[in-house]
Amino acid sequence: MKPFDVYPLFDIEPVKAQGSYIWDKNGTKYLDLYGGHAVISIGHSHPYYVQKISEQLNKIGFYSNSVKISLQETLAQKLGEFSGYENYNLFMCNSGAEANENALKLTSFHTGRKKIIAFNKSFHGRTSLAVAATDDKSIVAPINENENIVFLPMNDEIAFEKEMRNNVCAVIIEGIQGVGGVRIPTEAFLKRIKSLCEKFGALMVLDEVQSGYGRSGKFFAHQYADLKPDLITVAKGMGNGFPVGGVLISSEIKSKHGMLGTTFGGNHLACAAAIAVLDVIKNENLIENALQMGNYIMENVKSIEDVKEARGKGLMIGIELEFPCVDFRKELLFRHKIFTGSSSDKNTIRILPALNITKTEADIFLETFTKILKSQKQIV
Ligand code: PLP
Repeated sequence: MKPFDVYPLFDIEPVKAQGSYIWDKNGTKYLDLYGGHAVISIGHSHPYYVQKISEQLNKIGFYSNSVKISLQETLAQKLGEFSGYENYNLFMCNSGAEANENALKLTSFHTGRKKIIAFNKSFHGRTSLAVAATDDKSIVAPINENENIVFLPMNDEIAFEKEMRNNVCAVIIEGIQGVGGVRIPTEAFLKRIKSLCEKFGALMVLDEVQSGYGRSGKFFAHQYADLKPDLITVAKGMGNGFPVGGVLISSEIKSKHGMLGTTFGGNHLACAAAIAVLDVIKNENLIENALQMGNYIMENVKSIEDVKEARGKGLMIGIELEFPCVDFRKELLFRHKIFTGSSSDKNTIRILPALNITKTEADIFLETFTKILKSQKQIV
């Protein structure tokens, strides 16, 4: 048997990682400004994280949700306090798609309605409802096509107001669109969604799978706007590589035994990983670092003449070039040993480093980036 060939791969095999660096099997060192797609929040193989997971594994790694797992309560309490959502409840699952799938399902259970509003360029995952609410026809299988989902242009209040009626079940929006090319919903737009959801009895789902967990310079990107959504989905940075996701659920939404469930969600190891991540983010002031280093990178990138546009908040940065970035990223990776991310917007490079990136590491990227742009200009 061979792996099912669905990923276009770089011919690099990482075998070791530490902080913002990874090493391949030939011993070559790479600076990781991609974090395996915004997953590495506290840095690769953080010693505290390794210690906590190892200790847990030596006690008990897994049992299903048929028994009491008090680590779930510890995690929910820490997450609630740290994020400012003390009164919400936490449902744990294993990935971002699963978090959105459960969140949307919950909105439908709660309202008894079906219609979902999502936005152009959105990405919410690859399972049935999550992918139906994703604005990319190429990954929606015929069986996932769903006439209950309506896509609207983001930040277009007029289009949104026209569509909002009392048949809407939920509005789902990313804190900052990631795959769509790092695009930010305006604070006014988020507030309009919240107020019209309240008016029409719909629920607001904030997908913070990529933009959450401190990446934006606040715990959640939507916290730049002063509002509280009904549901918030998390994954990626939550486990720093351990597969864990979750839905933060307003206490207005009542639970019922059996309405949601998963075998692996909230197991001992996942909780230990997620608790360790929160401890490190808090103890090492990583949200402040994300804000400072993000601002530093952003200011410098904006001052580079040939950059068309730089978008983002904190350490979620999209750099739009005047040309497709595919070769530029290859040059960064293969020649200068720097990992970056792409997006569905072919001219936009995504920078999603660990939240503890240092100024020295940021400078390596900025200098290399400027050098490549200059050399390309000379060739043109
Ligand atoms: N939501 C957002 C905003 C994402 O960026 C992603 C993944 O990139 C997902 C959901 C899906 O997460 P996962 O790949 O863990 O299912």
